Amino acid sequence: MKLYNILFEVKWALNTDSNVTVDAKAFAEIMDKLSVRECQKEPVITSGLRLNDRQVKAMFDIWRNRGPEYLIKLYATDCKSCSNQAGNIAKELAEKWNSMSKEGVSRLTRFLPGKIGNNASKLLGRDEDLIKAGLDILNKYPEGISSHKEGKALDYGLISNNPEQIRKLLDIIRSEELAEFEEIDESNIDKSGSHISGSHIHVTIHGITDKGLDFLKTKIEPDC
Ligand SMILES: [Zn+2]
Repeated sequence: MKLYNILFEVKWALNTDSNVTVDAKAFAEIMDKLSVRECQKEPVITSGLRLNDRQVKAMFDIWRNRGPEYLIKLYATDCKSCSNQAGNIAKELAEKWNSMSKEGVSRLTRFLPGKIGNNASKLLGRDEDLIKAGLDILNKYPEGISSHKEGKALDYGLISNNPEQIRKLLDIIRSEELAEFEEIDESNIDKSGSHISGSHIHVTIHGITDKGLDFLKTKIEPDC
């Protein structure tokens, strides 16, 4: 299982790791093994476990770089795999951060690698207060933003992966009944038809079937 965590691909799913549930790990292994059988390249996971402390930082970055309206729209409307509460949480975070920050601060603290002057560094100190306040808000909601919080979900980014390959592998897992899962297509395509930042297929893993466990134990040969 390859976990690939690059900024331009997972702009709003930063800071995740591969400490997912046993079932999610097995699911990733099934995907990998199938990709060998189907003579495809190994799929890249762009998001795995994301706990509240990291979730809040990702959301804070969006608020700071793209603004409160964007943050709310992203979680209330655009994020199909997010929990029912996600929009409300984003709204509460944006309101808190708006009230904590003075006008213009969000622009001054905007993260520009290599371009942070002394003044901006001082202001960045405020970010920690805002993130802490945001974490208190997130912690009030047991359901959280998504199933990534429980490590039950994997994202396959559609810039790192070939979208048709990912869809094909998922179709095989479904038709061969290797696992119980639910996928949500969060394709984000620009006018020219290219996948852009954040474009991914989200998979929530409910369980691995006996057929799936057998498949993992069986030696397979490339079918090409
Ligand atoms: Zn996801």
